[in-house]
Amino acid sequence: MADVNRRIVLASRPHGEPTPAHFRMEEARAPTPKAGEVLLRNRYLSLDPYMRGRMSATKSYAKPVEIGETMVGGTVSEVVASQNPDFQPGSVVTAFGGWQDYSVSDGKGLRRLDPAAAPMTTALGILGMPGMTAYTGLLNIGRPKAGETVVVAAATGPVGSLVGQIAKLKGARAVGIAGGPEKCAFLRDELGFAAAIDHRGPDLPGALAAACPDGIDVYFENVGGAVFDAVLPLLNDFARIPVCGLVSGYSLTDLPPGPDRSPLLMRAVLTKRLHIQGFIVWDFADQESAFLTEVGGWLEEGRVKHREDIVEGLEKAPEAFVGLLKGRNFGKLLVSVS
Ligand code: NDP
Repeated sequence: MADVNRRIVLASRPHGEPTPAHFRMEEARAPTPKAGEVLLRNRYLSLDPYMRGRMSATKSYAKPVEIGETMVGGTVSEVVASQNPDFQPGSVVTAFGGWQDYSVSDGKGLRRLDPAAAPMTTALGILGMPGMTAYTGLLNIGRPKAGETVVVAAATGPVGSLVGQIAKLKGARAVGIAGGPEKCAFLRDELGFAAAIDHRGPDLPGALAAACPDGIDVYFENVGGAVFDAVLPLLNDFARIPVCGLVSGYSLTDLPPGPDRSPLLMRAVLTKRLHIQGFIVWDFADQESAFLTEVGGWLEEGRVKHREDIVEGLEKAPEAFVGLLKGRNFGKLLVSVS
């Protein structure tokens, strides 16, 4: 296989917000699969906020990308050559192919897709890792009940948009927080959220309080920072808070200035008997088939909707990723690789 493999590597570690200069495009010969392996051509690459963590050397739940290594990432890929009897050329799979044209795999962890059953891009969004994050985090930890108020930020993204829609299906009132009037209109008019608040508006705490007259029973935490500050006083007794992400702080280099507010938080935990639990999607790996069956069914029946933001060309990945952390995406951010 003489094709050229374009790959985007980590050029340096950012201190603070990443820029496209922290990445570098390289070209090499496409790899050749050995016995038991398949050669994958990556069709779509998923860009996700967790990748900011992989750019740092700080210890976390997953290993950092080393300088000069190809950036990691989930892909929808086509098998183009196979030395593995389980996968035939032409099959479409989900893989962890990374920011490049080609990758090799020994077949472990590949999930076969039926492009006739659902558009293949959904396997990286609503029917993929972000969708499963929303489903498992909300249902296992948030446990919304009919009539309750569920608040979620980053609400037009693949995680937040499904959280709000599942909350609605469970009979709860979904309140979304998003950046800008266009995203807020989408939440209300397209996804049927009861209310949508622009976190860049003049009075986030006041607007959120007005949208939640009965307080907040479930806060699905995606962003942290000023949004959490606005949520905390509104939490009801026995509120549940699945801590899924803290995207507002992923590029912080230090603790924010100001007084230590942890005593305030701990007092609220005690007096309101809050249930706060962090989770990583694969904590619920055994629920993957239930997720695919249930959310796949809702999608087919039109009971949940999703929105994608597809950028053309692998070379655009760095700029698109930098934009993701600032809210420039509108829906699940994907790169159409070639
Ligand atoms: P999104 O596509 O929603 O992208 C992130 C969004 O965060 C941006 O579009 C922006 O939306 C919002 N945002 C960024 N900075 C701020 C800020 N300062 N204040 C408020 N909002 C901000 O991402 P995903 O749906 O893929 O992921 C959502 C969250 O879930 C992330 O925190 C991610 O890390 C986490 N996650 C966790 C997983 C787990 O296993 N625990 C798995 C997958 C995702 P806007 O324009 O609306 O502000």
